[in-house]
Amino acid sequence: MNKTYLQELTSELENARQSGTYNNIRIVQSQQGSYLKVAEKEYLNLSSNNYLGFASHPRLKQAAQQAIESQGVGTASVRALIGTNDLHITLEKKLAEFKKADDAIVVTSGYLANMAAIQTLLDKDDVVISDELNHASIIDAVKLAGITNKFIYRHSDMDDLRTQLEEAQKITSEKHPTGRNKRVLIVTDGVFSMDGDMAKLPEIVELAEEFGAITMVDDAHGEGMLGSQGRGIVDHFNLHGRVDIEVGTLSKAFGVLGGFITGSQTLIDWYHQKARQFLFSNALSIPDTAALIEAVNILEESDEDVKKLWENAEFLKKALQEAGFNTGNTQTPIIPVMIGDELRAAEYAKKLYEKGIIVSAIKFPMVAKGAARLRLQPSAIHTQEDLEKGIEAIIQVGKEMQIV
Ligand SMILES: *Cc1c(COP(=O)(O)O)cnc(C)c1O
Repeated sequence: MNKTYLQELTSELENARQSGTYNNIRIVQSQQGSYLKVAEKEYLNLSSNNYLGFASHPRLKQAAQQAIESQGVGTASVRALIGTNDLHITLEKKLAEFKKADDAIVVTSGYLANMAAIQTLLDKDDVVISDELNHASIIDAVKLAGITNKFIYRHSDMDDLRTQLEEAQKITSEKHPTGRNKRVLIVTDGVFSMDGDMAKLPEIVELAEEFGAITMVDDAHGEGMLGSQGRGIVDHFNLHGRVDIEVGTLSKAFGVLGGFITGSQTLIDWYHQKARQFLFSNALSIPDTAALIEAVNILEESDEDVKKLWENAEFLKKALQEAGFNTGNTQTPIIPVMIGDELRAAEYAKKLYEKGIIVSAIKFPMVAKGAARLRLQPSAIHTQEDLEKGIEAIIQVGKEMQIV
């Protein structure tokens, strides 16, 4: 690259360092668990998406190993050619059953699942109505689809959603250039990952039904967390069959990697035929797929892990609130500790790290400038002792920094 371009990049990176937004990536030397080994030291891990401990679960490991022995590792092709293994079909069937939907399609990440869900259904002449705090992958998916009729509603503000739906009607009163009807999609995160609050899904569904809009929920954090046995936010609100598109990730509570969409038979057939992320990108690997089948089996068998996750979260949340921390609007096991200033949040996380505790500082651009926070994510595998150790350190540093 020419020198001028490189200098520009260097100076932007330097700015990020100065303002506390530079991301120093940690290198983990152990499996994901309640403790992590980093730079040859053990750290209590309070910030991972491994909500149920599945990332290193013995049954998932064993399923992956057995599958490798019998079927190898790679699939050597996209799903649409010869990359579809019977394990993929089993996983899709199991996910559909688990989510109480007609069918499912699996791709290699939640990010790609959002791309597929939106791009395959809408184009530039259609309309999307999106919560202002939706995940980056939804924003990117809307961009990829080339949708210019974008309406953003204030976070979980149902009056504003209605206003946006009314605005959208001006566009959809005309036919799409191809002669079909113009489509309106309301899209929301299920659990908002930076605040831990839930979408007002029942109200969103009512509005969608009133206006004839399509509904899509990205339930990345809700899976394995909400609803009976971790079936997700649609199950939590008992809205089966009333949310058109459910997107999930297999990379968080499910402990492995991948993304999926569940919905009606017609919709999922459509995606299997048309989604570019399915047609032009390789299938999920054999061990990943086998481990994921086992993850669904475990959830189907018992809600023990999900219950434990909530117990741990309640314990942690209560202790922090009693100590005077502001935990924002959380309704789930994602617990923010509001700080505000980026540098202070980074310093807080650094001090905890020095005490042997890993907690993420969440800063701009992941949240608005001046809304920096720590984000705690307990897991079902934490013991009470682990949590107490974390709480003690958080309070100690909080007092030192005069946050409480
Ligand atoms: C994590 C996340 C994703 C991305 O999932 P991956 O499987 O990591 O690609 C998408 N949407 C939301 C809301 C998420 O939290």
